Order: sequence, then C-alpha cells, then structure tokens
Amino acid sequence: MSQWVYFFGEGKAEGDGKQKELLGGKGAGLAEMTNLGIPVPPGFTITTEVCTYYYANDRKYPDDLKSQVKDALARVEQIMGRTFGDPANPLLFSVRSGARASMPGMMDTVLNLGLNDATVAGLAKVTGNERFAWDSYRRFVAMYGDVVLGLKPVDKKEEDPFEVILEKVKHEAGAKFDTDLTTADLKRLVTLFKEEIKRKLSLDFPEDVYEQLWGAIGAVFGSWMNDRAIAYRKLYDIPGDWGTAVNVQTMVFGNRGETSGTGVGFTRDPALGDNRMTGEFLINAQGEDVVAGIRTPRPISQLEGVMPAAYAQLVDIQHRLENHFRDMQDFEFTIEDTKLWMLQTRTGKRHPFAAARMAVDMVLEGLITEKEAVLRPEADGIAAFLSPIFDQDAKQAALREGKVIAKGLPAGPGGASGRVVFNAADAEAWANRGEKVLLVRKFTSPEDIRGMNAAQGILTAMGGMTSHAALVARQMGKVCIVGCGALDIDYEKSEMVVGSRVVKEGDWLSIDGFTAEVILGQLPTRPSEVVQVLSGELKAEESRNYQQFTKLMNWADAHRRLQVWTNADTPKQAETAVQLGAQGIGLCRTEHMFFEGERIHYVRRMILSDSEEERKKAIAYLFPMQKEDFVGIFKAMNGRPVTVRLLDPPLHEFLPSREALRPEVFEEKVRAVAEELKVSAGEIEARIEALHENNPMLGHRGCRLGVTYPEIYEMQIRAIIEAACDVARAGIPVKPEIMIPIVATWQEMRIFAEMSRKIADEIIAKAHAKRKVHYLVGTMIELPRACVVADKIAGYAEFFSFGTNDLTQTTCGISRDDVRGFLGEYVNREIYPSDPFQRIDREGVGELMKMAVKKGRKARRKIQIGICGEHGGEPTSVEFCHQIGLDYVSCSPYRVPVARLAAAQAALKE
Ligand code: PEP
Ligand code: MG
Repeated sequence: MSQWVYFFGEGKAEGDGKQKELLGGKGAGLAEMTNLGIPVPPGFTITTEVCTYYYANDRKYPDDLKSQVKDALARVEQIMGRTFGDPANPLLFSVRSGARASMPGMMDTVLNLGLNDATVAGLAKVTGNERFAWDSYRRFVAMYGDVVLGLKPVDKKEEDPFEVILEKVKHEAGAKFDTDLTTADLKRLVTLFKEEIKRKLSLDFPEDVYEQLWGAIGAVFGSWMNDRAIAYRKLYDIPGDWGTAVNVQTMVFGNRGETSGTGVGFTRDPALGDNRMTGEFLINAQGEDVVAGIRTPRPISQLEGVMPAAYAQLVDIQHRLENHFRDMQDFEFTIEDTKLWMLQTRTGKRHPFAAARMAVDMVLEGLITEKEAVLRPEADGIAAFLSPIFDQDAKQAALREGKVIAKGLPAGPGGASGRVVFNAADAEAWANRGEKVLLVRKFTSPEDIRGMNAAQGILTAMGGMTSHAALVARQMGKVCIVGCGALDIDYEKSEMVVGSRVVKEGDWLSIDGFTAEVILGQLPTRPSEVVQVLSGELKAEESRNYQQFTKLMNWADAHRRLQVWTNADTPKQAETAVQLGAQGIGLCRTEHMFFEGERIHYVRRMILSDSEEERKKAIAYLFPMQKEDFVGIFKAMNGRPVTVRLLDPPLHEFLPSREALRPEVFEEKVRAVAEELKVSAGEIEARIEALHENNPMLGHRGCRLGVTYPEIYEMQIRAIIEAACDVARAGIPVKPEIMIPIVATWQEMRIFAEMSRKIADEIIAKAHAKRKVHYLVGTMIELPRACVVADKIAGYAEFFSFGTNDLTQTTCGISRDDVRGFLGEYVNREIYPSDPFQRIDREGVGELMKMAVKKGRKARRKIQIGICGEHGGEPTSVEFCHQIGLDYVSCSPYRVPVARLAAAQAALKE
C-alpha cells in the first residue's frame, strides 16, 4: 500500500526536511520543524504523488487516500482533544498548497475550515469570544466561496463580490475598519455571503465539514493547473509534472484579540542581503491579511514592545532555523493568545543582489563554504551588481524641485524609470510594443505576474516587504517599492493623485528601489557602485558591494575550468570587459568599425568599385584606420588573446535598405549617397538591386566575400598583423587570432589559412620586433556542414569558435532576424523547450557542436575551441559548453561576471 499521507505533530513527524519532492517545500519544512521540537500545529501532508495521480487518472484520487486522511485526522483530533465537526468543541483546519519549489500566492489556500452554523457556536463558547468565532466564519465562507466554489471577479474592472458586500455592510454599520464590525454585523455578513453564493452559483454553502475538506483538497490540487500557476511555472522553469502537495493543519488563530497576531519574516534582509531579521506582523489578524498586502503591517522589530516573550522566542527560533538549514529562511508565524506557533519555514527567495551578498557574508560567518557560496546565487542575478542606479545629482535636483513625491518601502534595489500603467495587462501590451513601463498598483496579485515581468519596475500603494509585489519583484530582480501610502490610485480614471499632483497613465515616473522614493519624470541613471569602482570614480574601500562582488567572483574563478572571454569591438569595451574579468577577446566584429566616422564613405566606394584597381584604392584608405583600431584593442588587452573576425556581413548592409524605409526616405537616402560618391542615383539603385537578397544571412557574406573580393580580407589581415607588430615593438605583448567567418568547406579554410600565413609571415619577418608576434588562424563554426567536416577543416584551422547565432539559424532553419512571428508559440507549446537563440538547443545544435569538438580534436589534438555566439553569456549554455569540454566562452562585457559564475557552478555541479 502506498503512503499518501504524512502526519506531523507533538514533536514527531513521519516525513522530514529532505522530502521536498514528496511533501512539497511547505510540508517538508513543517515536518522538519516538528522534528526539531519547534512549536508547530499538528496536521498532515497529502503528497505530491497524489497530485500526479489525480491528473493522470481523470481527476480521481487513489482508492486508499480517504482512509489514510481519516486516520491522520483522528491522530490530530487525539492530540488536540477536539473533534472535526464537533458542535461542542470543533477542530478547525487550514488547507494549503505546497509545491516542491515555492510559487508564492499562485495556488489556493482555505482557512478556518470546519465551521458551519453549528460549530461556530461551539467555537464561540470554547473561546469565550463570539465575535471572533463569527469573524472566522465570515472569512471562511468568503474564502471557500472564492477558492473552492469559484465565485471571484471575472475581469479586471469587476470587484470581488464578497468585498463589495463587506464594504456595503461596513458602510451601513458606520465601520471604518473590519475590526469595527460587531458580532451582529458579522452574522449578517455570513448570511449575505451565503445568499450571494446561492444567487450566483445556485449552490448551497456546504455545512458538512467533510464535504468542505474534500472540496478544499480538490481546489488546491485543481489550482496546480490554473492559468497563473502555469504562467509562473513557465517563467521559472518548474516542470508541470511535479505537482503540489496539500497541507491540512490545525488552525491557530491570530485574530483572537489583542494578545494574538500573525506575521511573516526572513532571517535576513531579502532585498539588500543584510544580516538582520526582517518582516512584519499584524495584531489581531489572520495570515492572509499580511501576505495579501491589503493592510500595511508593522515592522517585526516592534513586536518586541507588544509581546516581548513571543518576540524573544521568535528571535531564538529564527536563529535555530537558519543555523539548521544553513540558509536564509522565510517563515510564517501566528501568536494565539500569547502562544507562538510556527506555520512555515522555507529557504527564502531573495533579490539576486541580496543572494550574492548574503552568500559572501555566510562564508565569513562560517555558516557555509566558499563552494556553497558560489553555487547559491543564480548566475544571471550577478548582473544586478552592474545594473544602473540613478544619477545622484539629478536626484538631488529632483528633490529640490519638489519632484520626489512619495516614499514607500524599498523592496527591490536599483533605479527604474518608465511610463506609468495601472494594470498588468497594459504593462505587458505596452512593453511588447517597445515602451518602458512602470507598473503601479494598489497591490499586486498573482495574476499580475506577466505584467510585472514586463515592467521596468513595480510600485504599490499598499502592502509591506513581504507582500506579493515585494516577493515577486525580488525574485525577478525588479526594482520595486511597496506600501507607498501616499498614492491614491483610481483604476477607473487610469490616474493617481499624490498630494497635489496627478499622475496619469503614460506619464513618466522614476522609482529608487534603494531609498524607496518615487520621483516625477524620467531620471537619468548612473553606473552601479561596482562599475563606478571599476572606472575609478569610487574607491574600492568605500564600496562594500564591490568588495563582496569581487570576493564571490574570485571564489568562482578558483573553481571554473572554462575561460571567459569577451565580444568587444572597441578598446573601451575591451577595457571594461577586462575589468570585469575577461581573459581574451573571442570576437571582434570588424564590420562595426566600418560604420565609424568617414569610413563608411570608403566602404561604399569599395562596394561601388567596378574594377579591382578602384576597389584597392578605396580599401587603401580604410587600411590605416583599421590598423589603428587593432592597435587600440591589442593595447587594451595587453597580451591576452584577441580574435579578430574578418568582414562578415553582406555588403548591402552598408547601403540604404529598401525594405526598412518608406519609399520617399529610401529615395532621399539613395540621392544622398549618390551625391556623396559622385555617381548617379540610378547607379546606386542598380547596385542595391544586384546585391539584394531574400535572406541576407544565407547569401554573399562571410568568407564568400573573401573569395570574391580577396582585397578586403588581405587588407584586414595586413592591418591585424602590422598593428600587432607595432604594439609588440612598443614592448606590449600581443596575441592576435585571425578568424574566418561562415566557413562551410575545408577548401575555404585552406584558401584563407594560406592567405593569412603568406601575408602575416612576410610582415613579421620584416618587422624585426624584439618580441616575435605569434598568431593563430582559425575559423568560426557556424554552419552544420562545418561541424560535419570539422576534422578536415581542423587540418587548416588552429582554432574553432562556435558562432551559435548562425549555427542555430542554419541548423533549425529559422531566420535569426524574423523569428518573432512563431517562435513564442513554439516555446509555449514546448516544440522547443526554450528559445534556441537564447539557450543552446542541446538536442540539435548541441549535438552538432559535440561532433565538431570530437572531430576537431581528433584531427588536431590541441585545437583551441570556444564559443562567441550570444549563448556564451547565458548560464545553461555556459554549462553545456563546460560539459562538452570547450576551452572558453565569449560574451558581451557586462555578461562576463555571469559567465564566470556560471562556469564555476557548472564545474562544481559535476
Ligand atoms: C554567430 O553567428 O554566432 C556569431 C557570433 O556571429 P554573428 O552574430 O556576428 O553572425
Ligand atoms: Mg555568425
């Protein structure tokens, strides 16, 4: 017989903290806390396997589930000395979801379960508090009506039907807060709620407590497949077949008066990473009031003054939890009549920035090892250390001008500006058409998740640091301010009033997630502290962020095998990349240089040339500029390898494009070029026509240009090697690598290897430099054919660099420039597990890469192999490159730290 139900209570649990897969995060945490002797209300967990079974069997439960639930329930009844459904002394339950990975607020919860017209009287009697009993009952009916029976708003403008009734009753009773309602008001609410259910759903509210229980269990399992849970899983790569567990736990009440309360907390600051307990609580309230962010709670430190004994116990427990789990915990607690109960603990989500900072601190505190610290932060998140902050002068000016209009709580650090939108669907739509938006809400709820993701930042009027908005923003690494009470938002009018100001939809607004200030207009941003230290504007000693960042990076470097190079086209980019840890340049795209200053003129001359002689003349003009470029880059890289790719794009990219422009603009541009080159407009048009291609990426580009116009490549090779010799002569070490693009055949490679060697050796021989320049000639591997004949190509190439942008395009047959139309749908339907242009398509492109590595190394044992496609800065792709034994990954300068961390993580996970 399978065990579907795991009991916990009275210091002993059937499960433990390691069984997250089976019990879900919440269930495992409850079991572990119980075993640690921490006060946890008894209950039981229905396993994730039941969820899987439920979906595999047409939403039916395993046969023996009912009897196991019954047995566990009896054990709880015995411990508590109360009976479920007993009108004299009723036992009540909370029913909550709990998946393996936390999905904050995505799934359903029902509290106060077990109340009906009979048990409510019993509850009133045993607690001696009739008002409390009816308050619990009205909450239960509303929650059950919403979650289990499905009576909730259907569109964004509709209000929650139970809220509407509540507001009406409050208004009629002259009550400002819920707590002002009398027992009679609460009784009326229960009646009205039930009537609403009957009216809208033609259903009677179930009085039978077992019907309630199974309804709630079904609703929780059902919520695994609700839209927002599905969207959330997609966003965070949580597999749909994991399923959720259901936790049925004895209710303890934070709403039993002034000696009761409820709260949530973190053992450290999840936004900034500082080592201090943070969180908040409400007196006389139930847990949902805090998490939903509807009432703004009080900071947890104030609990000490209100209930000193419970506070001291909480401080002690949270230390024990952190030491036991060796990571920051996110916990929930309830104080019932001065007695503290822990309702949840789990490893807390944190802003990526905080993740890195606390990992470093924990090593210094001796809590975790350096290796663990390297593995903890998501590699992508380290980019938060480099993300911009507001320019302080501009902010001071804004302050003087009275543009700082409000202040809330800092829930996600960083500076963000955007145009204000008041609902998540708009945020998504505006962002899709390229607008920067700030999502402003009274509070957010799980259905806002996609809009939050699309926004630059999130600002809410209500809620605290653990409200939904704060949790989600932190996890996404978004700039966020919550609990900004000064905002008076009117969804209907799509505007908000802040003091004397009115901010309308579409207005620019800026939010500072470090200081929680809301600022009118679009503030300019400045580089982050780390970037400021790197550029010399700030001293390293003055920036703790910088110190922590460097520590973590150094630990990572000690563990990685892959080198991290960068894609850089200018000395400035190269310098930045080196400061961020780049060990070489894996791709210098020379075409970018051709657009600089007056060069484009000579490039166009070259293209318009009819004879080789004319072409050579134009090229001769380009030569000194091109050589200067390389001198600058070689100097900046100071002896690190510099891979220069010979010209790659099709030549029409240097002329006006017919498709991209309106006809009149196109004609005007053509006229201008004609004038510039002193030829007729007709001649220009004819050349554009001749060069036109349907998919330029598969046309006359890459080394095909070198075959037909060898002068261009000859010039570039000469410029590279002469620059290298000049730099070497000046005493600076240099390591040039000449890279040939779009090679498909070994014959192409042979042509350019020979061309390169002939030119280079001659220059080097004549250079008489003290330090002899050593160079490599190699190729990009960006066509499937090149992978297949990689052994033959390796006969002529000293290195390979995977151009996975083109390799993905040509392997999948999807144009890298116009995939948008259908790729989203492909990913949604899991035809591709993820966008193959972002993450290496391991099954297809990845196999070709493996083949090329194997064949390449067979033909030339020590061949150097790297990657320079965009994938080189994406963590899962970096992991793949590590696994297939590449020598380096190359990515854009600001991704270098991400790749360093990802490479270390890949090595440590082995
Ligand atoms: C590639 O194809 O992966 C590559 C790096 O080259 P480009 O993006 O310049 O075509
Ligand atoms: Mg390419």
